[in-house]
Amino acid sequence: MTVETINPATGQVEYRHELMAPAQVDAVLAAAQAAFPGWSQRSLESRGEVLRAIAAALRSRRGDLQQTMTAEMGKLRKEALAEVDKCADACDYYAAHAAGYLQDQAIATDGRRSYVRYEPLGCVLAVMPWNFPVWQVFRFLAPALMAGNVAVLKHASNVPRCADLIAQALEEAGLPPGVFGVLHIDNEQAAAVLRDPRVVAVTLTGSERAGRSVAGTAGQQLKKCVMELGGSDAFVVLEDADLDQAVAGAVASRFGNSGQTCIAAKRFIVVEAIADRFVERFAEAAAKLRLGDPDDAATTLAPLARQDLRDELHKQVRDSIAKGARPLLGCEPDASYAGYPASILDAVAPGMPAYEEELFGPVASILRVKDEAEAVRVANDTTFGLGGSVWSGDPERGERVARQLQVGAAFVNAIVRSDVRLPFGGTKRSGFGRELAEHGIHEFMNIKSVYVA
Ligand code: NAP
Repeated sequence: MTVETINPATGQVEYRHELMAPAQVDAVLAAAQAAFPGWSQRSLESRGEVLRAIAAALRSRRGDLQQTMTAEMGKLRKEALAEVDKCADACDYYAAHAAGYLQDQAIATDGRRSYVRYEPLGCVLAVMPWNFPVWQVFRFLAPALMAGNVAVLKHASNVPRCADLIAQALEEAGLPPGVFGVLHIDNEQAAAVLRDPRVVAVTLTGSERAGRSVAGTAGQQLKKCVMELGGSDAFVVLEDADLDQAVAGAVASRFGNSGQTCIAAKRFIVVEAIADRFVERFAEAAAKLRLGDPDDAATTLAPLARQDLRDELHKQVRDSIAKGARPLLGCEPDASYAGYPASILDAVAPGMPAYEEELFGPVASILRVKDEAEAVRVANDTTFGLGGSVWSGDPERGERVARQLQVGAAFVNAIVRSDVRLPFGGTKRSGFGRELAEHGIHEFMNIKSVYVA
């Protein structure tokens, strides 16, 4: 079957590729299986050297990777270059720190010696989304490779060349054949790969819908899975917040990557006493964003990655307005192929899509509350639990609120972001398991107790 990639800035077909035939899939899995013993038995120093070479290969290909991301899913040039740099830094970070995360941990018992040892599991299937087409891969892959695992990637169908370029960079860096493989397959084929005994586990970053399907297959097969799913992060503005700081954070978090970020602030929960001033300043700043060609340095808001995603977003906006939300800015599709302007919906309330669902695009929902206690209640009144941020002139107060948020990551006076030093993941329907840091590297390892009497 032929799959077409459409450039979201132009609406033109960018690339056509064929899905792999069963024999090709089998060859990738066989190569992974063959590569595992050698890779897992290498010393950490040797794996670290390869990771450093991968970092260098990414840096030398940052222009190619940027152009491909921009063409395939419409990322702004500046954001795409920063994404490649972040991936290279992550490789360097794990090369330097994995030994600390993976050393045996002595545990005092009545035995002569007892300790925990971390052993790699084998071949992990990674099912990845298009929104950060390089970073999502490396967020999983850099720690997984240092752990001694091997991996096969099923990338989102609209970013096939990003997947191929990543594979080329790894090969150029000297990663042995089979340690990483790309599978150009559809979702049914991905389920068959997960059922294959040569694959021991799966990590998925994507929507709740995809999570249910992939976690269901993993459950039937009794295979470990990590689910990094959607979010509708709260951005809580208390009455003592520094407005300049909060407005700058709000614009960066909601409109970066054209709003297509799992940990973007989506619900702006603002205490009445500051609400009018915050909303006015936020709208003023958002109105300055310039939607246009993502490859043009003057553009500050990229199109959405696909036209159907733009249409789906607009339906959520329309349905919210029909239920009483007030359009303050934007809220009408742009004339371009997949563009949607920076938009703000005020007076968002329960029962509206903007309250209940994830808006995966540049639309901010304003929810006005009377005080801190109501802010916490509304922030937690969601099926999601990925991240959340709190803005207050009193960092201790902000921290008190942050600790009450039912999320995997709560930030005070800073926007939620992924950081290699901190574990990343969600609660509730935002998923389970963690990536990054010590917790992430241990997800796909056998945590083995050794006891010597
Ligand atoms: P998506 O449609 O769920 O796709 C994600 C990946 O899953 C793609 O590779 C897709 O392949 C695959 N997939 C979809 N349905 C599947 C199924 N039934 N079985 C197996 N694989 C399936 O999500 P998206 O639109 O690319 O990404 C947006 C979503 O991802 C948002 O909800 C966002 O919040 C979430 N996200 C979460 C995180 C996190 O870390 N928690 C990070 C980024 C994004 P095809 O393209 O071939 O369908």
